[in-house]
Amino acid sequence: YGDYNQKIDYVFKGVLIGDSAVGKSQLLARFARNEFNVDSKATIGVEFHTKTLVIDNKTVKSQIWDTAGQERYRAVTSAYYRGAVGAMLVYDMTKRQSFDNMARWLEELRGHADTNIIIIRIGNKCDLANLRAVPTEDAKEFAQREILFFMETSALESTNVETAFFTVLTQIYRIIS
Ligand code: GDP
Ligand code: MG
Repeated sequence: YGDYNQKIDYVFKGVLIGDSAVGKSQLLARFARNEFNVDSKATIGVEFHTKTLVIDNKTVKSQIWDTAGQERYRAVTSAYYRGAVGAMLVYDMTKRQSFDNMARWLEELRGHADTNIIIIRIGNKCDLANLRAVPTEDAKEFAQREILFFMETSALESTNVETAFFTVLTQIYRIIS
């Protein structure tokens, strides 16, 4: 921190995808800045945040892209996916529809992204346990079938957020290094 000469060993691009309002922007805000905005506005314009981590004594700069509120128009462009080595497919575990739509997001990802992209599926809003609409078992089963990592998170309570990003970035590092 504050070291201008800090050597960056790797730069990884990651993308967040999933239905609108599942919590993608809040997950990124939590990871990159340890923030949560109670009344977050829909993201306008393509945005990314960077965070530098140390993995195996190497400095890894992650550049995570957030959709520009284009989810509902299915207008996420191929430029968004270009060069991405990791993807986080996010659903809201209190909204079954957002889970069912994962198949479509995965298809879109397979169509646009590199075949070797590392994917993690994230069930967000686990703080709302009493409103759960997607059993953990359903999500795990899907994850195993599609060879994805899976984690339940809460951007609000900061549960598993860092772990989820770390899991993807570490896996990418292992494959690339
Ligand atoms: P996006 O459209 O996927 O980027 O979703 P946002 O990050 O904008 O979040 C949509 C709404 O869900 C906002 O009102 C957030 O405050 C809320 N939200 C996001 N993450 C969580 C969470 O982990 N728990 C709860 N209870 N609400 C969340
Ligand atoms: Mg957003």
